[in-house]
Amino acid sequence: MTGVFVALGSNLDDPEKQLDRALDALSKLPGSRLRAISPRYWSPPWGDPDQPEFLNAVASLETSLKPLELLRLMQQIEDRQGRQRAEDRRWGPRPIDLDLLLYGEQTIRQAQLEVPHARMCERAFVLKPLADLAPQVEVPGRGRVEELLADLDCSAMRRAAKPDPTTEPTR
Ligand code: ATP
Ligand code: CA
Ligand code: CA
Repeated sequence: MTGVFVALGSNLDDPEKQLDRALDALSKLPGSRLRAISPRYWSPPWGDPDQPEFLNAVASLETSLKPLELLRLMQQIEDRQGRQRAEDRRWGPRPIDLDLLLYGEQTIRQAQLEVPHARMCERAFVLKPLADLAPQVEVPGRGRVEELLADLDCSAMRRAAKPDPTTEPTR
């Protein structure tokens, strides 16, 4: 079994429900076990500002799936939740996006799969929930998650009420 981290993001069609569905599907992946789910955060869109805010989280799994098998099953979950791939709009709105951040300590550079995820270290909406689960984990070639996060601005992120309403600050 290999420890992996998957980033989830949604900004269409009820993001709370989309994350619930995707997490349920991840928990049922063959040869895999869902270990932990980070808090969820609302974050401004990245790369393409003209769209709703995203709800983001990170899940930690153990899996015996090979990296490309895991990617294919993640894409199947996206497809089942109505993900459409607009060729003309990169980083556009979507009901669900699942990115494979880390696969054990492996570095993978293939046409369909790059691990560690190529842009994860520039993204507070990825590193913040990842740091909630695994601050000490090493991003191969880049450094420890909590140190990488220290270079990013998290001020525009807001923690969502789910899945941990007891610690939600009252406003
Ligand atoms: P970004 O990758 O910047 O977060 P995105 O999530 O919007 O952008 P997608 O359209 O979801 O990008 O994916 C484009 C392609 O990225 C996929 O078809 C997949 O083959 C490839 N890909 C490469 N590395 C990864 C990875 N680590 N996790 C998920 N997809 C990946
Ligand atoms: Ca993505
Ligand atoms: Ca993606």
